[in-house]
Amino acid sequence: SLKTGVQQVFINKLKLINFRNYSSLDIMLNDKLNIFIGNNAQGKTNIIESIYLTGFGKSFRTNKDKELIKTSNDMAYVKIQGKKRYSEFSIELRLWNNKNKEIKTNGISLTKLSELLGNISLVIFSPEDLRLIKGGPSERRRFIDREISHINKKYYYNIMSYNKVLFQRNNLLKNISYNRKLLNTIDIWNEKLIEYGCEVILKRIEFINRLNVLSRLMHRKITEGRENLEVKYLSNIKVNNKATYDEIYESFKTKLQAKIENDIKRGFTTIGPHKDDLGIYIDDADIRIFGSQGQQRTAALSLKLSEIEIIKGEIGEYPILLLDDVMSELDINRQKFLIKSLKNVQTFITITEIPELMAPLVKEGSIFKISKGNVIKYR
Ligand code: ATP
Ligand code: MG
Repeated sequence: SLKTGVQQVFINKLKLINFRNYSSLDIMLNDKLNIFIGNNAQGKTNIIESIYLTGFGKSFRTNKDKELIKTSNDMAYVKIQGKKRYSEFSIELRLWNNKNKEIKTNGISLTKLSELLGNISLVIFSPEDLRLIKGGPSERRRFIDREISHINKKYYYNIMSYNKVLFQRNNLLKNISYNRKLLNTIDIWNEKLIEYGCEVILKRIEFINRLNVLSRLMHRKITEGRENLEVKYLSNIKVNNKATYDEIYESFKTKLQAKIENDIKRGFTTIGPHKDDLGIYIDDADIRIFGSQGQQRTAALSLKLSEIEIIKGEIGEYPILLLDDVMSELDINRQKFLIKSLKNVQTFITITEIPELMAPLVKEGSIFKISKGNVIKYR
């Protein structure tokens, strides 16, 4: 099942003890497709969550380990075993009620949570991700910043530095309204703000240009070529998607100077990448305003799935894909094309039932029926 030259990661065993509503679970997994079927509140998302935990060391639903431990127990245990670059690996976590979690990779204890990251890469799509479309600009900036930071440490440093300088500059602006003399000291903050800001904008533009190409392809696959998705970086500094560092620098500087009195009056910086947004369009219409539920969901999915290719480009292997509750708002055609387009990645899907029309497409996969924390391998 390995494609030419592409490294691949698989999980082939999952073991849970006293995790959420599972007393004990031990299942063999499929290299390609794993479908978890069950009614509401039976434990489908809990499975996805346990796998997520082995990649990130924490849940996407809660920061409290205690919630992950089955009620009236002291410890939860999660173990995955799999293959990575043709050799076997394992990751184990022990979560405790009253002490820090313990993590082991290949049987060896880790001293820091950060050592876990990068062992296996995971991409998750859950209903929460719809906020990418329906939420405000800050949701979309968070998405962009998180995605770039994952693959670029320097960006993470630049965005953190930018935010620190922004905080300082905002404090200064508030003080200037009481003490006009302080205005002399703003240049040093402006300079730093522009420097870090330019790095941030430049990287975001580069990332979004790439995201645009990849998500457009993915969206055409899922919609069978019916819809054209476009994403654009919307900068309040008014730079286009081919801008150079110098162009961004000049524009940012000019705008910042033009807005200084306004900034003092408002007591915060009104211009810069912390105010930028991501524009999302289908066939030229802004999807946040004109998109249907299904279109919005498909677009969010296309954007997230582009991460698969981005990660592959960066680390040379496809990540594992976790799709929680994705199918419910997609029509049968979109569901079919989604499944078809996921050929290269090991995928975990939760669903309340499999429509008959889907059955032929999921032939190669394994199906698990979940009921009250019990799992039966159906095929
Ligand atoms: P839906 O289709 O509604 O998304 P689901 O199958 O994904 O449902 P999960 O979120 O996986 O449901 O599981 C929810 C169930 O797990 C609930 O019944 C809940 O009470 C139970 N549960 C959650 N945490 C714990 C815990 N710490 N101990 C015991 N049971 C728990
Ligand atoms: Mg669920």
